[in-house]
Amino acid sequence: MMREQIEMHPSRWGDPARAQALPAEARGLVEMVFGVDDRPAVPEPPLAPPAVDAAALGALADAVGAEHVHTDDATRRLRTRGKSTPDLLRVRAGDLTDAPDVVVRPTTHDEVAAVLAAAAEHRLAVVPFGGGTAVTGGLVARREGFAGVVSLDLVRMKRLLAVDHVSMTATLEPGLRGPEAEALLAEEGLTIGHYPQSWEYATLGGFAATRSSGQSSAGYGRFDALVVGLTVATPIGRIDLGTAPANAAGPDLRQLFLGSEGTLGVITALKVRVRPLPEVKVYEGWRWASFVDGAAAMRTLAQAGLLPTVVRLSDESETALNLADPAAIGGAASGGCLMITGYEGTPAAVEAKRAAVTAVLTGLGGTSAGTEPGEKWARGRFDAPYLRDSLLDAGVLVETLETATFWSNLDRLYADVKAALTAHLGEPALVLCHVSHVYETGCSLYFTVAAQEGDDPLAMWRVAKAAASDAMIAAGATITHHHAVGWDHKPWFAEEIGPVGVSVLRAVKADLDPAGILNPGVMVP
Ligand SMILES: Cc1cc2nc3c(=O)[nH]c(=O)nc-3n(C[C@H](O)[C@H](O)[C@H](O)COP(=O)(O)OP(=O)(O)OC[C@H]3O[C@@H](n4cnc5c(N)ncnc54)[C@H](O)[C@@H]3O)c2cc1C
Repeated sequence: MMREQIEMHPSRWGDPARAQALPAEARGLVEMVFGVDDRPAVPEPPLAPPAVDAAALGALADAVGAEHVHTDDATRRLRTRGKSTPDLLRVRAGDLTDAPDVVVRPTTHDEVAAVLAAAAEHRLAVVPFGGGTAVTGGLVARREGFAGVVSLDLVRMKRLLAVDHVSMTATLEPGLRGPEAEALLAEEGLTIGHYPQSWEYATLGGFAATRSSGQSSAGYGRFDALVVGLTVATPIGRIDLGTAPANAAGPDLRQLFLGSEGTLGVITALKVRVRPLPEVKVYEGWRWASFVDGAAAMRTLAQAGLLPTVVRLSDESETALNLADPAAIGGAASGGCLMITGYEGTPAAVEAKRAAVTAVLTGLGGTSAGTEPGEKWARGRFDAPYLRDSLLDAGVLVETLETATFWSNLDRLYADVKAALTAHLGEPALVLCHVSHVYETGCSLYFTVAAQEGDDPLAMWRVAKAAASDAMIAAGATITHHHAVGWDHKPWFAEEIGPVGVSVLRAVKADLDPAGILNPGVMVP
């Protein structure tokens, strides 16, 4: 029996019981760098009454049962936007204008299909809603041209449908949050191994729809690489994909729906690769003289086929901020850069991989900092979003962005994005970066910024983010490695895929969703 789902407040992250005031040390640091500027909470205004008429509500009730159609303020608030910093700031400023008119909660594929049919008939925009952790605007539908907006909430679709212990696959419903899916699979001795920072709240359907990448991607793979099959409800019918582990049957249509952000269909079931539950998990820290040295070591590991399960590398600034808490790197007090490596598996496999990686890293000039920095990272890996709330309360804007490129282009990308952010965030500002995901051919860069909120943090961030996005495209990198497109990345996404790419996406959208009801405005340029 599933526990009742903890709901996140629309302007804050996570379990309200885990929210913390800024710890005294951190508050002192904020005072020193930015000056504390406590922001009083603005009372949230009542929502506009739902715009959906009785006939449309009746059709939705026919689709899912009247008790699963919600038009009350409280439910609609909880399904308003995602969890980017601009999303939180808008709600904090009392702006709930993107609230859906109605929240519907289907429980089967056929009910999802019935909701889509009702929405097409009554000109309702439909926003598939998983965990609500989107950070690029993927949960905001364009209202113009529609009689209302429906949040299609997948919260009741949480079953483990099948486990194939021979092929090592599991079929699950899309509304399972990360911990819920792992708990069901753990009973079978299995794991998916997908742990993004949003893992506690994001869902399997959302992971697939945004092509998410978890902190253990070096060992288990990105989520899109873990999906072997999909069932999707589109406005023109059902499609089941993934009949074999690999095939040459034309283009791989699974890839069309992975990353489609609710614009082409609603994922109603996923078949994913599973692995045995790891018996052992070991995390440790490594010191490097510079970011360049650490990144070169990651490349060596990737190209030698020796990647640990987890591998991430903070640049000098991010490492220095960790150093502000000496315990963060096991008491070591020099500069340079901190790398975290992690190993999961059987004791023998962990020992063998760790020994091989240790030999390579030592040979390249790395210094082991022992397990303490790694264990500390593992303990706090899901806590940063709570800290963001506390910093926003104290008048400090904190936001992240990410990109990826080939190894040969890494130095340029790092320098250009950092310069763009630094130039547009005002003084003082912190721009921190880490290599978050690693491949044989390249890696992703994940930037975190902190700056004074000032009078108009949304405008300041819009300008800085646009400059960083311009820098990514100018450098020939991607606009997003794992946060997806939403509304925020659309102009740069169009540049990245070019006019033919845009034309393909528009054609597919027009064919699968002729009434244009699915997440209008999102992703498709
Ligand atoms: C603090 C924080 C940390 C994060 N860390 C990471 C990270 O480490 N790695 C990473 O990859 N991402 C990260 N993200 C981004 C976010 O968690 C991902 O985009 C996530 O994969 C979305 O899953 P969700 O269930 O919350 O989906 P939602 O936010 O509900 O939806 C995301 C998009 O997918 C669509 N969608 C949802 N479910 C379905 C479905 N069943 N069928 C079709 N479309 C659907 C929605 O309409 C929307 O467009 C982070 C976000 C936050 C706020």
